Amino acid sequence: MMDRPLIFAANWKMNHGPGEARAFARKFLPLTSPLQGRRLWFFPPAVSIGALSEALHGRPDITVGAQNVHWEPKGAFTGGISIPMVAEVGARLTLVGHSERRHLFGETDEQVARKTRAALKAGITPLVCVGETLAERDGGRTEQVIVRQLASVIQALQIEDWDKVVLAYEPVWAIGTGKNATPDDAAQIHELIRMELGRHEIRNRVPILYGGSVNAGNVAWLLTRPQLDGVLVGGASLDPDTWAELVDQGSRAKVRPSGGYGVLEA
Ligand code: PEP
Repeated sequence: MMDRPLIFAANWKMNHGPGEARAFARKFLPLTSPLQGRRLWFFPPAVSIGALSEALHGRPDITVGAQNVHWEPKGAFTGGISIPMVAEVGARLTLVGHSERRHLFGETDEQVARKTRAALKAGITPLVCVGETLAERDGGRTEQVIVRQLASVIQALQIEDWDKVVLAYEPVWAIGTGKNATPDDAAQIHELIRMELGRHEIRNRVPILYGGSVNAGNVAWLLTRPQLDGVLVGGASLDPDTWAELVDQGSRAKVRPSGGYGVLEA
């Protein structure tokens, strides 16, 4: 069994076109070196996947992914981008069900499940996001919401598929707001997710990242909890110096327990 890699995932959202992505890579690469047991993932806008993949080529610890994909490989879906298309320009991962997709674009649990299944079928690792809104949290419905979001994906997959799935717990109230869950809050929900997976015999297979206003100042604090297998970061991943600093702080903080949840070669 390999040690569980620590994953630092950068979600650039609608920032950095191809030129800016290349400039980011030029600045970022000398600031970090490949480290055993650490993976750096980048989710640029779709138009920048090719440029960033080329610019970061040759770093075995770095993988580029899409922020969103359609579940169909091609067809009459104006504005859509398919998994084979993003794979052709270098994506090996895709975010699925990010809260901005769910809440700003009306993506449903069923669509999230279809995209997850389609990504796996095409050999692309899905990073599936779950998380409750502030109203759901205040209404005491966090557990119910997370279980519901997971259930649709669990129903759509076979147990063995979970060797290639990564989850992110991202409380919606913490994304881009400057508020983040405490390590205890995050660890508690990560435990809940593991318990839910455990009811389906998939407890130890899946890395679970935490996301929501993570920055260089709080990443070490959050990663003190062994339940967190890494972080998914928006705002603080946009600047190469800031992102390198966050990755460095987080890598120093985390003592990884030995264990295995699949190969995750993405
Ligand atoms: C995100 O986009 O997934 C995210 C967590 O954003 P931020 O770090 O800006 O809160």
